[in-house]
Amino acid sequence: MTPHPEPTEPMGPLEMMGTPEAARTGPAEAAGHAPSRTFAICGDLIHDPATGLTHHLQPEQITALAHAGEPAGGRCGQPTVRRIRLPEHLVEDAPVVGPAQRDRRLPASVCWSPIVRCNLSCPQCLDDTSVIEAGHADRVRVAGILGGAGVLGVDISGGEPLLLRDLPELLDLLIEAGQCAVSVTTNAWHLERLAARLAPRVDAIRVSLDGPDAARHDAIRGATSFERAAAGIRQAAALGIRVQVQTVLMRSTRAHLQEMTDLARELGAAGLTVLQMLPLGAGANLRHELLSDDEASATTAALNVPAGLRVRLRTRDLAGGFSIVRADGNLWRNHPDAQGIGSLLPLLSRDDLQLTGRDGNA
Ligand code: SF4
Repeated sequence: MTPHPEPTEPMGPLEMMGTPEAARTGPAEAAGHAPSRTFAICGDLIHDPATGLTHHLQPEQITALAHAGEPAGGRCGQPTVRRIRLPEHLVEDAPVVGPAQRDRRLPASVCWSPIVRCNLSCPQCLDDTSVIEAGHADRVRVAGILGGAGVLGVDISGGEPLLLRDLPELLDLLIEAGQCAVSVTTNAWHLERLAARLAPRVDAIRVSLDGPDAARHDAIRGATSFERAAAGIRQAAALGIRVQVQTVLMRSTRAHLQEMTDLARELGAAGLTVLQMLPLGAGANLRHELLSDDEASATTAALNVPAGLRVRLRTRDLAGGFSIVRADGNLWRNHPDAQGIGSLLPLLSRDDLQLTGRDGNA
């Protein structure tokens, strides 16, 4: 539980790719219209890097895109995914496609955990710290595969990805491939300092919070974690990054979910994802904390959601079958009931990503 205040491998200097504000302000905002941001599209599927959800565009939306010179194009399952900037309400209001409803031979999205190390030590952590962390050359190789694979979304997680010196390079490789939308999931300890460097090269940042104030958050994550995460969220939001707060729902924390919702809005986040706890990694020791998906749905349905904030619940059912590339460069996949995870094979080409069952999301 003892946090280490500085990265073990601090992020190196990198070039700015234009000002963050300029990079994130499209013609729609300039004209005073609804804000737009970047998604990934493949046929009638569109992926939101903030929420991790994949939506089904309606025929009239596809027609409107074609008229605007942005044909959706391509058959899903083929490498015809591309990045597209759209008004966010257009995507957020489109129906969500569940894991069993996608007709793809590749995952819609994957989580990539290129680092095992973390500066925190949370009791509910999903990560398997026995995984051997591959080096820089392997990370570059994996980024090249994922960027061109035909998955719509790649979320870089960990461990703590902001400890990686080569994180900007990996993000650039993914984005420059021009296919997937890219997000980073972080504990935000170093986010305030690094947000300006990340702003031009991520489509969303997901920040994990466990409590609505310093006392409750730090009791799980360690002293000053809350203060640092809150400062990071404010800074990222001020730079125009789409910030999604993520919180793991547990029996002992469900009572403060309303306060978490209010806090997310107050800090400037645009969304809150409520994650059903998975009994993986250290979380396997906390089975008494598990709520059923029905209990989780009832808890989130009772929330009073502030204007301007979107709340998403990721049930365990939705997490079944989700694909993870771990720091060892191997492809792992959640069991269908998300009560376990298995290592499948080394990721050596896009074909290794092929689905063997349903495609979860996270
Ligand atoms: S939950 Fe996240 S912040 Fe906490 S130990 Fe695991 S990787 Fe680190």
